[in-house]
Amino acid sequence: MSSPAPRRPTASVLVVGSINEDVVLEVPRFPQPGETLPSTRVTRNPGGKGANQAVAAARAGVEVQMIGRVGDDPAGGRMVDALRAGGVGACLVEVVPETPTGAAYITLTPDGENTIVIDSGANGCLSREDVLQQREAFAGATVMLAQLEVPVDAVTAAVDSARTAGLRPAVTLSPPQRVPLGLLDGLDPLLVNEHEAAFLLGDPGPEEKRTGDAEQTAERLLQLGPRSVVITLGAAGAVYADLHGVFRVPAHRVEAVLDTTGAGDAFAGALAADLALGEDLAHAVGVGVRAGADAVGRPGAR
Ligand code: ADP
Repeated sequence: MSSPAPRRPTASVLVVGSINEDVVLEVPRFPQPGETLPSTRVTRNPGGKGANQAVAAARAGVEVQMIGRVGDDPAGGRMVDALRAGGVGACLVEVVPETPTGAAYITLTPDGENTIVIDSGANGCLSREDVLQQREAFAGATVMLAQLEVPVDAVTAAVDSARTAGLRPAVTLSPPQRVPLGLLDGLDPLLVNEHEAAFLLGDPGPEEKRTGDAEQTAERLLQLGPRSVVITLGAAGAVYADLHGVFRVPAHRVEAVLDTTGAGDAFAGALAADLALGEDLAHAVGVGVRAGADAVGRPGAR
C-alpha cells in the first residue's frame, strides 16, 4: 500500500510582499512645481500591498504568515505591530539595519483625487536568497500570494518555491512592470485590474480602448501561461478564466462608495484565503467580490 500524501496542518496563506506606512497629507489642492503648501491634516496608516492582502486573508479566517522586510526606524515597529493586530504571523518579517521602512506619501485633495510617491525602503532589500531560505514556511502553507512592490527576483523565487513545495501560487501583477514571462507559468490565479491587464498585453489603457472586452482579455492572458486569470473591474465586478471557460461575477451594490483604495488588495486576500480553505475559483471570486465591496464602503486601504 502506498503511504498517504503528506497533509498540510491547516488552511494557510503565505504572503510574500511589501510593508509600507501610508503617510496621508490632506491638502486644499495639489501644489504647483516649486510651491510650498501646508497640509490641513496628516495621518499615518499601515499599508503596503503585501501587508494589506495578508490582513485581508487573516480576516477571512485562515492562518497567515508574511515574508517581508521593515527598516530599523519607529515605523518598522509600528508596521509589525499592525500586522500582528491584524492576525498575521510576522516572525518572518525581518528588520533591515540602517534602512527606512517603506513609505507611501499620499497627497489627498477634498474632491478625493490623490497623488502617491512611494519610497520602497526596506522592501527593496528582500532578495531571492531570503525567500529561497524559507523552505519550512512554504512547506507549511496551502496558497502563496505575492505582488510586485518587492523586487521581481524575490517574487520569482516565491513562485518557484511555491511550485516546488506544491502550494497554489497566486500573484497580483501590481504595480505593473515588466516581468520574465516564466513568472506567469502556472499561476493559479494571475490577478490583475484592467490597467495591469492592458500593460501586460501591451494594449492601450482601458480608457482608450475601443475594441475587445474583459472576457477576451482574460482569454488572451491565459495564453501567457497561467492556469487561471482573474481581472477585477471596479464597480463592474470581476471576470475569471480557467480551463472551464470564462465567467463574469457582478459587483455587490455599495450604497456609499467612500474609498476605493485597497479594494483590489481586499479582493486578493479574501480570494487567497478561500482557495486555501479548499474552495474552487468560482467560489473564491465570489468571496473576493464581497470583500472588495466591503472595502470601498469604508475609508482607508485596510
Ligand atoms: P484595484 O483597486 O486593484 O484597481 P478594483 O478597483 O478592480 O481593484 O476593485 C477590486 C474589486 O472590488 C472589484 O472586483 C469589485 O468586486 C470591488 N469593487 C471595487 N469598486 C467597487 C464599487 N464601486 N462597488 C462595488 N464593488 C467594488
